[in-house]
Amino acid sequence: MENKRKPYQLVSREWKKENTVINLKNTSIGNGNITVIAGPCAVENEDQIFTICEFLSKQNVKILRGGAYKPRTSPYSFQGLKKDGLILMRQAADKFNMNVITEVMDTNLVDEVAQYADILQVGTRNMQNYQLLRALSKIDKPVMLKRGMSSTMEEWLLAAEYILSGGNDKVILCERGIRTFETATRNTLDLSIVPLLKSVSHLPVIVDPSQGTGIRELVEPMSIAAVAAGADGIMVEVHNQPEEALSDGAQSLYFDQFSGLINKLKVSTAAFGRSLDVETEKILS
Ligand code: PEP
Ligand code: MN
Repeated sequence: MENKRKPYQLVSREWKKENTVINLKNTSIGNGNITVIAGPCAVENEDQIFTICEFLSKQNVKILRGGAYKPRTSPYSFQGLKKDGLILMRQAADKFNMNVITEVMDTNLVDEVAQYADILQVGTRNMQNYQLLRALSKIDKPVMLKRGMSSTMEEWLLAAEYILSGGNDKVILCERGIRTFETATRNTLDLSIVPLLKSVSHLPVIVDPSQGTGIRELVEPMSIAAVAAGADGIMVEVHNQPEEALSDGAQSLYFDQFSGLINKLKVSTAAFGRSLDVETEKILS
């Protein structure tokens, strides 16, 4: 491996030694602190997103997640509120001084999503949608590239290379679990990829233990494990009424579980000589 030239270049540590830092309003991803991204799987209605956003803001979370365009396995499942969902999320985030991350599923939606989001998410199903990656390489906003559920590290980094080589170097990688023979969990969260990615690439790495396990009780231990593995942050699903959620209720944390997770993470990040970004002040803009 040492002497073999790697197929990816711009994403590699050889190309750039220093860690890439993504600067947002009130916070940065990849600056050494552990970033907490949280919110519902999908934006469902005004009351739901404002209730969740207010709760998270009290926990000093600075990045709100939520799907407006949802990639659902079944065409009969809730597909998201689309543009209305983007608008609601932006309004909630602005009210509580937070950043928005949301998924963009299609090339022709890049401009619309970029108008409302601070970070654009590429979902697992689109990691190798090269037209979409090329379109995202032309925007001036950060992109979080989730790992394809059946993709190798090399394929994932080459997908990131599409975005950097087109001109956008603001890329974040997100491990969200891969398909294995194991069906007891929704996916197999590949935490071993985290320290490997950190050694071969300068890009920040976020771990999503919600899609990664599919089981809310596993989100806390896997979040702590992600920090121990050297991740730059976690992205977790939280809902005010998980049993009523229109998607991914079984993996969504209750509010009290989320507060408990934050408390545990404060202690564990300190043990690794790092701190949580929820411990730093929100600067009012
Ligand atoms: C999500 O974050 O809700 C999601 C759909 O993620 P993934 O693409 O990893 O399944
Ligand atoms: Mn989800």
